[in-house]
Amino acid sequence: MAQKVWGPTTGLKSAQRNALSRIYRRHVPPDQVVTSELAHFMAHLSHDIRRQIGVLIDRRGKVQYVIVGDSDSLFLPDLGRNRAGVGRLRGLRLIHTHVRGEPLTRDDLTDLSLLRLDMIGVIQLDDDGDPTTIELAHVVAPGRTDTGWEVIAPEDIGRLNLDFGTFIDELELELGAARKGRRVSQGTRAIAVHVTPGRTDSTETRRSLEELRELARTAGIDLVEEMIQRRPKVDPRFVLGRGKLDQLVLATMQQEAELVIFDRDLSPAQARSIAEATEIAVIDRTQLILDIFARHAKTRKGKLQVELAQLRYTLPRLMGRGTAMSRLAGGIGGRGPGETKLELDRRRAKDRITRLQDQIRTLSRQREQQRRRRINAGVPSAAIIGYTNAGKSTLLNTLTGAKVLAENKLFATLDPTTRRLFFDDGREVVLTDTVGFIRDLPSDLMEAFKATLEELSDADFLVHVVDLSSVGWEDRMASVRGILEELDVREKQELVVFNKTDAIADKELVDHLARTHGAIAVSALDGKSLRPFKDSLKAIATAIRAR
Ligand code: GDP
Ligand code: MG
Repeated sequence: MAQKVWGPTTGLKSAQRNALSRIYRRHVPPDQVVTSELAHFMAHLSHDIRRQIGVLIDRRGKVQYVIVGDSDSLFLPDLGRNRAGVGRLRGLRLIHTHVRGEPLTRDDLTDLSLLRLDMIGVIQLDDDGDPTTIELAHVVAPGRTDTGWEVIAPEDIGRLNLDFGTFIDELELELGAARKGRRVSQGTRAIAVHVTPGRTDSTETRRSLEELRELARTAGIDLVEEMIQRRPKVDPRFVLGRGKLDQLVLATMQQEAELVIFDRDLSPAQARSIAEATEIAVIDRTQLILDIFARHAKTRKGKLQVELAQLRYTLPRLMGRGTAMSRLAGGIGGRGPGETKLELDRRRAKDRITRLQDQIRTLSRQREQQRRRRINAGVPSAAIIGYTNAGKSTLLNTLTGAKVLAENKLFATLDPTTRRLFFDDGREVVLTDTVGFIRDLPSDLMEAFKATLEELSDADFLVHVVDLSSVGWEDRMASVRGILEELDVREKQELVVFNKTDAIADKELVDHLARTHGAIAVSALDGKSLRPFKDSLKAIATAIRAR
């Protein structure tokens, strides 16, 4: 039985119609985008009828739809909305011909993104109807390109050696990772949960929750409630006791929370059980930190490095899940379907990790900073560094004010953490806020953290903000400098700012400390206190310009 050919078939000879219908019989191996035979067949037929021909191919390589268009467009059949899961690809790629050999059009690329196609490809023909090149495009994870898609340069039909199966596995994984990364969006309402074997009002608990609060604030999360439970031993399945879990479920509903954050690391099984009970997303402290890093990584290398850290965190968790599964499957004497899927997930994650490592190595050699440096040519720039909660963002905001931001809208939207400060002589300096240092950073997150600070090497000098009112500020100052050393930027000029001096009663002590450390004392909340700081910025900027 002939399968339906979509699109306007009127005006075609029956032999042509049959030829179109025969395309359904062709099969593409899963590791190829399209076979050379199919490309030739479509090209010649297309040349013959002077109309575009398209096929929608599924992941197994089966032609699901054959579509005929007119000389310069193709109308796709309604693929139905629900076939595309949220954020995932449709599982169909469109390969079609362009009769006059035109490149991919705007409409093609719009179809690609709106329909969430796996890929779109155009086969270009020469005057004899032979296929010459194929140009491909695919969607990318949010933020990777400005447009949301990426076009692969045209390749000779005979030479196309893209392994489609691997490619699509990686792309799905990347889109999945981006989706998870985005789950924590600005203003997300969340409930924090802390479980302790000791007293609920101990210094340890208070300190830990305070830190979690800082992290949540940095991630742009709105912590609407905090729950503390004292439990001599954590519940292996839910961490919390049953009664407390019920209370948590109730609280998520009352507060309309979208997220639960645990102030400890969760096993994958625990995270899943709790998520099932509360029916909202559950993350742990490490995931929260990784989310912050993902948000702050600016360079391509930095982004890749954070993704690598996210995968490395996920991989053993997939392992754990797999082991539990195979034991279960072994018990009933067979391989569960879940296990196969997990093996695939693990393989994909491992492949992606290898690829990321390669890409990072290549990028290290390319030094993309040089390009960025040229963009800001002539304008001195400073990176604001220091621990989370030191007052970096407050300083930047008070310093530059809303007026400057409004005047530089384009600049501001391009990168929300970068501001320009104008001096009274009309000269300027570019200031960039960085991700804050985090107390007790888990050691396996260190590489990812450093990656978010890649942009430090772009800066002409550093503004090091210290919260002078906090206990242990001296140790923290030292560890910031230790990291600068490791990042190879220690020799950059460093302007030390002692902040929150309004919270210290002893003004003489403040003056003394500032003098001995060569620092400038300010209160970021008070614009007037920033005069000496501004003067120093101006002096340094002037000196840099003169270099
Ligand atoms: P960041 O994490 O370094 O960017 O810190 P933020 O700028 O977000 O500030 C952290 C907290 O410290 C906020 O609650 C600020 O209001 C507060 N803060 C910042 N600067 C000062 C200051 O000079 N004095 C006081 N008392 N609080 C400040
Ligand atoms: Mg900040």
